Amino acid sequence: QLATIRAYSTADFMVLDQFTRRNLELTETIRGGKARGSLLGVLDRTVTAMGARLLRTWLNQPLLQINRLNARLDAVQALVDNETLRLEVEDLLKTVSDIERLTNRLLIGKAGPRDLLGLRTSLDIIPRLQELIGDIPALKTLSERMDPCEDVHSLVGRALTDEPPATLNNIGIIRPGYAQELDDILESSKSARDWIKNLEPTERRRTGIATLKVGYNKVFGYYIEVTKAQSDNVPADYIRKQTLVNAERYITPELKDYETLVLNAEEEILDIERRIFEELCITLSKEATRLLGTARMIAHLDAFLSLAEVAVREGYVRPDLTEDDLLVLRDGRHPVVEKLLDGGIRYVPNETHFDSMSRIHIITGPNMSGKSTYIRQVAIITLMAQIGSFVPADEATIGLVDRIFARIGAQDEIHAGQSTFMVEMVETARLLSGSTRRSLVILDEVGRGTSTYDGLAIARAVIEYIHNNPRLNCRTLFATHYHELTALPDILPRSRNFNVGVTERGDDIVFLHKVMPGGADRSYG
Ligand code: ADP
Repeated sequence: QLATIRAYSTADFMVLDQFTRRNLELTETIRGGKARGSLLGVLDRTVTAMGARLLRTWLNQPLLQINRLNARLDAVQALVDNETLRLEVEDLLKTVSDIERLTNRLLIGKAGPRDLLGLRTSLDIIPRLQELIGDIPALKTLSERMDPCEDVHSLVGRALTDEPPATLNNIGIIRPGYAQELDDILESSKSARDWIKNLEPTERRRTGIATLKVGYNKVFGYYIEVTKAQSDNVPADYIRKQTLVNAERYITPELKDYETLVLNAEEEILDIERRIFEELCITLSKEATRLLGTARMIAHLDAFLSLAEVAVREGYVRPDLTEDDLLVLRDGRHPVVEKLLDGGIRYVPNETHFDSMSRIHIITGPNMSGKSTYIRQVAIITLMAQIGSFVPADEATIGLVDRIFARIGAQDEIHAGQSTFMVEMVETARLLSGSTRRSLVILDEVGRGTSTYDGLAIARAVIEYIHNNPRLNCRTLFATHYHELTALPDILPRSRNFNVGVTERGDDIVFLHKVMPGGADRSYG
C-alpha cells in the first residue's frame, strides 16, 4: 500500500547491473538461488522482518555520499562498542511485530484483532528503546524519529482485549468498558438470560401451578408448559402456541422479548464488536504515516544491530572512506568463502593496493588457486563499505566507487537465442561504455568463450582500452589463466602483475591462495 511517494535519484546509489549482482552473489547464490552462501546470508542477523527487508534493500543500493555512509558506520560502531546495549536492544526488537505490514493491512482494511494486538505489543517497547539509545550520539536522531505513538498505543490498549480471537467471527475482541453500546448489550443479555432462568419459579409463584415448566425448542423457541388439567388456571397474558396430548404450551410477549435478546445477543455483540473494530481501524489508519515512520526507524536500528553483530563475530574492521580513487586493503578476506571453508582450513587473507599509478591488476595462476575468490573479495569488501558495514580485513581505505562491474567469462548456461560468446561480448561492451574513472571492474576469464588466440586478443584489447582511455583508467582486477598477458605491464605502465602462489611438492601442487606481485610463470594446465 502506498502511503506516500518519494522521489529518489539513481545517481544517489552505486550502479549494480543484474550480472554483477548475480556474479557477486549478493542476495542469493548462483547455483540454487539460496540466501545461504550469499553475502546477505552472512550479513543478515536481523531479528525483525522490517530490518531484514531494509538490509536487503541496502545491499542492492550501496550509497555514494560519504556523509551518509559515515553516519551509518557511526551507528554500527556505537553498537559494536557496547555489547550490553546490543543484547538489550536485540531482546527488545525480538518482541516487535512487522509494524510495516500490519499498518498496510490497516490501510487496506484487512487488519484482524491479532494485528492490532501486535501493534500494541510492538509499541510497548519504544520508550525503553529510546531510553537505551537516546543518549548515544550516533543513534540519537534515530531515537528522536522513533515516534512511540502513545495515542495509538493507549487507544488499542483501551479498546482491545488482552487475548482477542484471531478473526472477526468470534466475540471477545473489544474490552468491556470501552464502548457504552457494547457494555449495554452485554449487560442486557446477561439480565435476559437471568430472567429466563428465573422464569419457571417466578411463574409458578404467580400462577400457583406447581407443575408449570419452561422449555425450549427450535421451532417455537422458549415456551411455558402447563398440563391440560391446569390450563384453565393460566393468566390472561398467556398466549397459546401449541397443544399436545396432555399439555398446552404458551408464550408471553415479555418472554418473546427476552428470548430475542438472548438469541440475538451474541450476534449483536459480534456486530457491534465488528463495527467498533472497524471504526478503530479507521482511526488508527489515519496514523499510518507515523506508524510507518516508527517502523522505518526500527528497521534501521535492526539493520545496524545486524551489521554490528556480524562485525564483532567475524572480526571485521571499520573502513576508512575517502573521495580519492584509491583502494587499500590489508589482509582482506572473502566474507562468504571464509565461512564456507571446511574445518581446519584457514582462509588466507590478501593485500590489495590501488592508487593513481596502479590501476589494472592482472592476476594469473592455475585453476583453483583462488583468483576468482580474490577478485570478488575486493568487490564485495568495497560494496560492504558502501552500505555502511564493517569489512573483513585488518585495515581498509576505500575510495568511493560509483559502480561495480563484475564479469565472468563463458558461464555454463545458454541464454535465450545468444551464444555464450555473444553474451560475453555484449556484456563486455556494456562495461566498457558504462564505466567511469571511479568504477571498480572485475573481470574473470573474459575471452574464454572463444578459441585461445581470439580470447587472448580480446582480453588484451579490453585491458588496453581500459588502461589508455582517460575516461576509464578505472580500478580493474583481471583474472586470467592466459599467462601471455603478464607481458602487458611492460607496455602499460599503470598495470601490474600478480599471481596466486602455488608450490610444487614432488609431483603435486600446493595452493597457497596467496596473491603475490609478479606473473605466474606457467599455467599448470
Ligand atoms: P580460481 O578462480 O583460481 O580457479 P577459485 O577462486 O575458484 O580459483 O578458488 C578455488 C577454491 O580455493 C575456493 O573454492 C576456495 O575453497 C579456495 N580458496 C580460494 N581462495 C582462498 C583463500 N584465500 N584462502 C583459503 N582458501 C581459498
